[in-house]
Amino acid sequence: MDTDAETKTRSTITCPACGTRTPETMPTDACQFFYECPGCGEVLRPKPGDCCVFCSWGDVPCPPIQADKGCC
Ligand SMILES: [Zn+2]
Repeated sequence: MDTDAETKTRSTITCPACGTRTPETMPTDACQFFYECPGCGEVLRPKPGDCCVFCSWGDVPCPPIQADKGCC
């Protein structure tokens, strides 16, 4: 019943360099600023204005954003 209200901690990151999509588990207490693509080795960083790689490249934003708390 309350599953919809739970924070999602799974996000699929799409690499802008090679298009590889990788499901990742997000930390709930920290932002991840760097992410190395397993497909091409590109190190992704957040876009300007985004707090972490999940907000920029993932299909689900990071837990603090989902909870409307702003960034960490
Ligand atoms: Zn890549």
